Amino acid sequence: MNRSIQLMAGTAVIATVASVLVACGKAPAPVQAAPQPTGKVDAARLAAIASEPGQWLTGGRDAGKTHYSPLDLINADNVSRLGFAWQLETGTNRGMQATPVIVDGVMYTSGPAGRVYALGAASGKLLWQFEPQVDFKNARSACCDIVNRGVAVWQGKVYVGAFDGILYALDARDGKEVWRADTIVDRGRAYSVTGAPQVAGKVVVIGNGGAEYDSRGYVTAYDLETGKQAWRFYTVPGDPSKPFENSGLEMAAKTWIGSDWQSGGGGNAWDGFNYDPELNLVYFGTANGTPWNWGLRSPGGGDNLFLASIIALKADTGEYAWHYQQTPGERWDFDATPHIMLATLPWGGAERKVLMQASKNGFFYIHDRATGELLAADKFADVNWADHVDLKTGRPVENKKLVDYTDGKPRLVFPSGVGSHNFNPMSLSAKTGLVYIPTSHTGAVLTALPPRTGPRVPGRGYAGVQIGFANMLANPAALPPAIRPLADPAFLRTQPTIEFSGQLKAWDPVQRKVVWTAPPRSFEDHSGVLSTGGGLVVQGGLDGKLRVYRDTDGTLLKEIDVGTAIVAAPATYTVDGVQYIAVPAGSGGGGWNIWSPANVASKKGNANRILAFRLDGGTTPVPPDLPAVAPIPEPPAQTGTAADIGAGAALFGANCGGCHANMPRAAVPDLRRSSAATHAAFNDIVLRGALQPRGMPRWDDLLSEKDADQIHAFVISVARKAYEDQQKNAPAASAPALKEGHL
Ligand code: CA
Repeated sequence: MNRSIQLMAGTAVIATVASVLVACGKAPAPVQAAPQPTGKVDAARLAAIASEPGQWLTGGRDAGKTHYSPLDLINADNVSRLGFAWQLETGTNRGMQATPVIVDGVMYTSGPAGRVYALGAASGKLLWQFEPQVDFKNARSACCDIVNRGVAVWQGKVYVGAFDGILYALDARDGKEVWRADTIVDRGRAYSVTGAPQVAGKVVVIGNGGAEYDSRGYVTAYDLETGKQAWRFYTVPGDPSKPFENSGLEMAAKTWIGSDWQSGGGGNAWDGFNYDPELNLVYFGTANGTPWNWGLRSPGGGDNLFLASIIALKADTGEYAWHYQQTPGERWDFDATPHIMLATLPWGGAERKVLMQASKNGFFYIHDRATGELLAADKFADVNWADHVDLKTGRPVENKKLVDYTDGKPRLVFPSGVGSHNFNPMSLSAKTGLVYIPTSHTGAVLTALPPRTGPRVPGRGYAGVQIGFANMLANPAALPPAIRPLADPAFLRTQPTIEFSGQLKAWDPVQRKVVWTAPPRSFEDHSGVLSTGGGLVVQGGLDGKLRVYRDTDGTLLKEIDVGTAIVAAPATYTVDGVQYIAVPAGSGGGGWNIWSPANVASKKGNANRILAFRLDGGTTPVPPDLPAVAPIPEPPAQTGTAADIGAGAALFGANCGGCHANMPRAAVPDLRRSSAATHAAFNDIVLRGALQPRGMPRWDDLLSEKDADQIHAFVISVARKAYEDQQKNAPAASAPALKEGHL
């Protein structure tokens, strides 16, 4: 059952703008009637968006998804007056990654697992909410949180892909379901949906994630009105005993030599879709392959098409139009899935209709989007895997000796799988011609592992490579001995400019160079970007700040402390002549960045909010600091043997550790702090879904009673160790108690 909630008692808080205006000697604004959600977006309106500067009609505002608004009511001269307008608390506490869509005074946006909210864009008042009843079994095989990157609004409907792969068309007026389609071809394999649907002519297109596991990538198109499947395009070859599903795969199959097709192949299209209505082409990027290790994945060699590629398809039929593979034989987690932007650029004395992407692999690519011709490919971040891209052949000139770990030696590779630029939207200013890119600068040490032993476990992955991320490099003593020399500071100094940081960069796509760089922040901090006709570049941060920069030189013009980490890109729009800047707040994308000290969630929690700002707004409500982390309660006595604990550790690592980091403040529970009741119900929770409504999937199809007992033995051992350490460090019981007032 799915439900939509109309006019639910909202939790919107609106700043006392009226009192501010009175204090300035102006009359308070008249009370407005609640806006009617109609979802009126169509091809004509999108084509004429220049005549409607106050609207934000797609996830990136316009058809090309430039994430630029011509609005200039808020500008460099008055942005010092920017303040809080309203907030909507969503009651969730996971990653918030969608850019809202704003149509005729109504905001449509999504939250964790594919919840949808329609709210008054001037008031923050909730008009309706859609809550998909998601099968959280998918959470077992999703790398990076149960996030959702947004909705598509089209001709009175709102489209969203829920985390379990059900695509919904909702009535924009009330959020009621119009149709649904199950987009998953094989529920025995690891698929999840986190990306926004793309409207493309008569169809809506959706991909999926799962390239870190055992899935075979594909995208599917559905009729906008009926939800009937129109076409499906697989991105990598499948069973060789069956005919190719599309003409592109005939070419692709020749580039997988000696591969085990049953491992899935990967190449999933999990984000970054776009569509050109004039060419009637739909564009998307594809992920890495499975397993990551190319030596295991394709023992006979080959480029492994269409991994790490941009693909263009004919929107009506799903037929192959063109492709460009960014990273042939991909082996470093260089998904080509970041934001794809369509624009017209002055190029060689003419106007060129281009497709642009700042890819995870550190190159900024520009293509003619009709033909796929590669016009430019330039490094915008620290990159050592390739020297440059040969524009004549289109192939990267790789530094194989430096970075190819498939020969068995550990290699330090830039960028890491975090990517030089990931899903976070970039923004192209029509005013400056610059692309503002949220970049990340990290390296990783990769070491090949032997082939998988034992049979493939459905829904599970095997990367075939051990990865040490930047945080391990920061502590070389913790690295395995074979890798340690690579992390030696002297070695690191031989690498390109290494700054483990997140940096907002202004990139000139025509001059092909960086124009300015904002001061570096934590490497996890590379949130989505907005630019405006007011000369502003707006970006949130994991430190809970919303920052506004001058578009020409990166001068920081305004900083607002909101106290909640921001990952999503802001949007801007007008209602009744007032310009607002709005952004969903809440950190996620795996538990790892929640407990990073750079993330304000480690101090103030991660209660999700949608925040809006306006000139002469109020003070933004900042969440209070979290109470001190409660002491670890005494765990039950250990009943398992040393062998059980060892087996449990391996099972935990393979199945549980991706979500349960067992750190205080993590997004999912720290199991060392489990209550006696949780311990008593351990196997019911793990095997039989006792906590399924809270997002903990059941595992009885993959794990036995004995497996669960062994995992429990491991959890108890970890909890006991932490508890004993805590007791050792606690003040002795005989120490005199401190009197009140002494602290
Ligand atoms: Ca990936």
